[in-house]
Amino acid sequence: MYYIGVDIGGTGIQAGVVDNQGKILFRTECKTVVKKGFEGILDDIKIMIDKLLEENNLNMKEIKSIGFGVPGFINKKGLVTCVNLKWDGESFENELKRRFPNVEIHGENDATVAALGESKFGSMKGADVGVLYTLGTGVGGGIVINQKVFSGAHGLGSEIGHQVIGENYFDCNCGNNGCVETFCSATAIIKYSQKLIQEGRKSRILDLAEGDLEKINAKMVFDAYRENDIVAIEVITRFKSYLAKTFANTINTLDPEIISIGGGVSKASDIILDGIEDLVRKYVLYKKEDIAKIVCATLGSDAGIIGAAFL
Ligand SMILES: [Zn+2]
Repeated sequence: MYYIGVDIGGTGIQAGVVDNQGKILFRTECKTVVKKGFEGILDDIKIMIDKLLEENNLNMKEIKSIGFGVPGFINKKGLVTCVNLKWDGESFENELKRRFPNVEIHGENDATVAALGESKFGSMKGADVGVLYTLGTGVGGGIVINQKVFSGAHGLGSEIGHQVIGENYFDCNCGNNGCVETFCSATAIIKYSQKLIQEGRKSRILDLAEGDLEKINAKMVFDAYRENDIVAIEVITRFKSYLAKTFANTINTLDPEIISIGGGVSKASDIILDGIEDLVRKYVLYKKEDIAKIVCATLGSDAGIIGAAFL
């Protein structure tokens, strides 16, 4: 038997046929055309999956289940809400079952799904309790307990990017102030660099951005850090300090075996992981005991497809 994993993103949808070893055998992708609406996007997915099977001489009878990662949440009634897709309590489970009547359908938040992928076949393999933080434009995450995703009593849990960990000088997209996302995302790194430069600080970051503040990206800040740029060091030190507080909260709450970091920012994992354990220890309650290993995710963007397949 095979499994299909579908990773629905804000701009693109990726799908793959996965074997029971977590290997993606065949894959395909299409654009997410938000203006087609909920049903239009599900129709696109149906066409895409039928074509993927046909092209590879597979039959739906050979597929055990289809799992979906969505950039939002699915509640316990099977209704999906994804703000950036303009889906508001849509009938996810029913509409998918209508399109794929003879196969099991599962769905979860995309970062939660990626955590499952990492837990089954990647950086958190073998851990009874693992937590993935995806550090990208925002901060998402997933909690896996005994190889199962944990999303709480109402399907709303594991939004670990919106733990409030301090006061920040700008608000989170969610409307709150002080979310992890506003301290530990690529956006946070970019905004704080821009702030310091606007305040008159000289920085190599601005050279790398060809003098245009708006062109600054997180990679430039890490590159400047490697060149010992004082502003970049200040930005990354602040980022790591809040990341350490966040991980300490997770350790105090769940005491996982592994905390894994994924997402675009984790490409600089050598800088992020360097000395992070000592920083985390400053904030955990039981400072002398063993604490979670902090590692880098290994499946990259495939975690979404693989995790979805195994929901
Ligand atoms: Zn928030």
